[in-house]
Amino acid sequence: MKKNVFVRSVRLVLRDEPRIFMMIPVCALLDAAFPYIGIIFSARLLTELTLGKDPGMLFFYAGMLAGLTFIGMLLKNAAGQYLDVLYYIEMKRIVQSICEKSWRLDYSMFSDNALRNRIQSMSDWIYWQGPIAAVQKLQGMIRHILSLLASIAIMVTLVTARAQGDDIIASCLNSFMFAAVFLVGFAIRTVVLIRNDIKTNALGAEITRKKEKHIGRFYDLVWASCGDYKRGKDIRVFSAADLLLDRIGQTLGEVKRLDIKSRTSEAKKDIFGDITEAVFSLAVYLLMGLKAFYRAFGIGSLIEYTGMVSQFSSSVSGMISVFADFIANTQYLNMYFEFMDMKECEANGTKIPEIKDGISLEIKDVTFTYPGTQSPALKEVSLTIGRREKVAFIGTNGSGKSTLVKLICGLYRPDSGQICLNGVPIDEYDRSRYRRLISAIFQDYSLFAFSLGENVSANSEYDSVRAEKALKMANFGRRYADLKDGLETPVSVYMDDNGIELSGGEEQKVAIARCHYKDAPFVIADEPTAALDPISEAGIYSNLFENVRDKTGIFISHRLSSCKMCDRIAVFDKGRLVEFGSHEELSSAGGLYEKMWNAQAGYYV
Ligand code: ADP
Ligand code: MG
Repeated sequence: MKKNVFVRSVRLVLRDEPRIFMMIPVCALLDAAFPYIGIIFSARLLTELTLGKDPGMLFFYAGMLAGLTFIGMLLKNAAGQYLDVLYYIEMKRIVQSICEKSWRLDYSMFSDNALRNRIQSMSDWIYWQGPIAAVQKLQGMIRHILSLLASIAIMVTLVTARAQGDDIIASCLNSFMFAAVFLVGFAIRTVVLIRNDIKTNALGAEITRKKEKHIGRFYDLVWASCGDYKRGKDIRVFSAADLLLDRIGQTLGEVKRLDIKSRTSEAKKDIFGDITEAVFSLAVYLLMGLKAFYRAFGIGSLIEYTGMVSQFSSSVSGMISVFADFIANTQYLNMYFEFMDMKECEANGTKIPEIKDGISLEIKDVTFTYPGTQSPALKEVSLTIGRREKVAFIGTNGSGKSTLVKLICGLYRPDSGQICLNGVPIDEYDRSRYRRLISAIFQDYSLFAFSLGENVSANSEYDSVRAEKALKMANFGRRYADLKDGLETPVSVYMDDNGIELSGGEEQKVAIARCHYKDAPFVIADEPTAALDPISEAGIYSNLFENVRDKTGIFISHRLSSCKMCDRIAVFDKGRLVEFGSHEELSSAGGLYEKMWNAQAGYYV
């Protein structure tokens, strides 16, 4: 059976941060009790003023009122602040766990827009509708219940206080029927308000679900485009502002339409609630006024009852709204737990790779179609890369080279066929152990807005000597010598005013350094020098080849001269492997390779 999401939230928070549940009763009690200090002592003070004979008592009640209000305020604030800090600590954990979960999910799942939108929209509502919010609602509920109990206790004396006199109104006020009608009226009001609140809040949650799609797009469109350093260039040079504004208008229009729907129902709820409230208050004040008129109680008590009635009323409507909130919250919690329960890595075996004498790779009859697309990006590709062999992948744009790299890295799985490393299908390996074997420079690599050292090592702790060596091997040495903060230099001005903005080629060098730093036995470089000048390129290639001398390597490049350094060349065309052999074999085979080779040679002759 599926566990209730609310119970799960409470257990989650209880497990992580039990102090929260120690503080909740304290805070709820202080919050609930606080208003009563004012009500009770100002009533006593008034009674003393009108009827009292002892001025000492006047001072006593005034002192109590001021003193207790002060102490109560102090305690209430201190406890509230402490609890807020605890909530904050737990919120940090929850946000981190969402990020961690995202990265544990199979990369291929992110082809799905819905998943990306879910994460995007969660980043918005997790603070006010996530598991912490559920616990906060519980706290609110406890507080309202405590307050309600206190006000009921005092209200009972209001209803039972006997009116003095023997006319019809007095006997009416004292009759049992009168109290009963009063209570039934109150019960009806409560039920109506509950239904109303639940309906509205459920609609709110439903609309948030629908908004998910738009919110994701909205963030990307508006904020990312306004603040983005890279996109800013294209937007200005191609005067794309109108296009963007137009799209922003469309997206916001959709969001507005959904918003209006939820706001209309909120407004209806508010009007309805206000009318019910007014009728109820009228009845209560009439009752109190009449009872006071018929001397059921004195002026001091009248003040007390007035305060109680408003406490009673606010705790009842508070309870109702928390209760309705709970119900709406369930929908958000469902979305949260749906995500956290998503099945992780489909192919995660237990085998530990044995790589004593190098890595060989066997690609057997692999066909692969990207999720959500129709035609395969790879068709029946078979090739074997021997231990310590270097193979170049070449082919026209879109022929499937990068796709095959992604499959080899285990980011996607083939529709059919198999990829084996040292004779074992890669799905049978423990995923993280398998990934440790591969050092890849992706065509669309990305750097982080962290320090240079963290970028090279992909870690917050790193070996500086190794990192510097890796940067030098990637021809970043000259630029590095200029950096006064060395490895500590923040990459990109986004993170730090002291950050450096790297050129496209320099970024690529850092990505290459990352590959050197990892020093894995299997190196894959997907167009690693596309952004580099010819002098850097030559140096980088010779270092890369030096580094992989005892390793297995795949190199993708459009500069065919660099392919000559590889043992064999695999030529791709429209998702198929069309030629596979050494440069000598292929350069006169009359196939695609020869054609490409001759086309490029033309520039240099
Ligand atoms: P290349 O040989 O230039 O590296 P790719 O392997 O990147 O080519 O792309 C092969 C084909 O797969 C192309 O037609 C491309 O449009 C398509 N493709 C690449 N990445 C994706 C993706 N993430 N989703 C859907 N289709 C993709
Ligand atoms: Mg590519």
